[in-house]
Amino acid sequence: MGIALVGLGKYATEQLAPALQETANCYLAGIVTGDSNKAAQWKRHYTLNEQCVYNYENYDNIKDNPAIDIVYVVTPNALHAEFVIRAAKAGKHVICEKPLATTTKDCDRMIEACENAGVTLSVGYRLHFEPYNQQMMRLGQTHKFGFIEHLIAKDGIEGVTGWRLDPQLAGEGGPLMDVGIYCLQAANYVYNMSPIAVTGQQDGQSVHFHLEYPGGFTAECECSFSKKMNYLHANASNGWFELEPAFGYAGIKGKTSVGSLHFEQVNQQAIEMDSIAKAILSGKSTPVPGDMGRDDVQMLLAINRALDTGQRVLLDPVIRASATTETGGAINGAWFASQDEMQH
Ligand code: NDP
Repeated sequence: MGIALVGLGKYATEQLAPALQETANCYLAGIVTGDSNKAAQWKRHYTLNEQCVYNYENYDNIKDNPAIDIVYVVTPNALHAEFVIRAAKAGKHVICEKPLATTTKDCDRMIEACENAGVTLSVGYRLHFEPYNQQMMRLGQTHKFGFIEHLIAKDGIEGVTGWRLDPQLAGEGGPLMDVGIYCLQAANYVYNMSPIAVTGQQDGQSVHFHLEYPGGFTAECECSFSKKMNYLHANASNGWFELEPAFGYAGIKGKTSVGSLHFEQVNQQAIEMDSIAKAILSGKSTPVPGDMGRDDVQMLLAINRALDTGQRVLLDPVIRASATTETGGAINGAWFASQDEMQH
């Protein structure tokens, strides 16, 4: 399937376009950019057809381009909605970067536009396709070490500049939407549940939040724009398992109370795009659906409300078929059968 990238910033340039040179089910077919210099450079570098190079004004003409099957939106967060809805109206499948949007209203508009157009909306949740994180899902979801008594997730970066510091473009809650989302996602996919209540405190450019799940299970999360952190740890009744670093593009390492984990280092973005393309081609549902992105935005906004009010914020439980289980199935047909591949 031909993919067009919208917004040729750091992530599109350094991760997605190179990954599209390694994919089997999709390839870089087009670009959408507001910068004519980038348009010329990319066109040359990736040997793109002139008809597959768009700007933000003529973007809607993509509807007439049969070479483009999927539009991948990689702009600042608050602009995702506009570009996703325009892609849907052009009849293209969409992948949208995380977070899906900065408000639930925008998420709903995006989901509705894709449903009305009969196209698939996926979220660029690359870690659903990463073997160490998949193993964390398995260990949590199958209770390999018993029930989890304590879960910790931390993700922080330093030296953040530009639109990420502007709530109009990035969304509310400082680092929550950018890196906090990885902590929330990890806690949810290890437990295979979503929280029913949240509390949180902000400390400068860092946010601590506490997630409460059905059954009394909890997760302690920390995200930051001023501190480097990259950690996932689960303490269970019969042992523990962890990743550090947990959420990077590469170099993820894992161990458990009975030894180290060893999995292949993969190109997460290539597998993500290939898996989504494969799901579309085979008429299956996407492993990382827009609904999942919407639920996460709702939870992040609830955490932000907890930060603002100092109160515990209640959430309706999300009752939906396990997306994480589906993800495993999408990547590895023998997802549950392969539990024993864990190497110590
Ligand atoms: P950048 O700032 O590097 O790039 C964003 C691009 O969006 C710009 O280069 C520009 O492209 C386009 N754009 C359009 N309108 C605007 C505007 N008003 N202000 C700024 N840029 C604009 O951001 P990133 O690439 O780091 O992030 C983009 C998206 O990808 C975000 O949603 C982010 O959360 C997500 N992301 C996901 C990651 C992951 O691991 N899944 C990692 C990093 C980011 P152009 O010049 O071509 O018009």
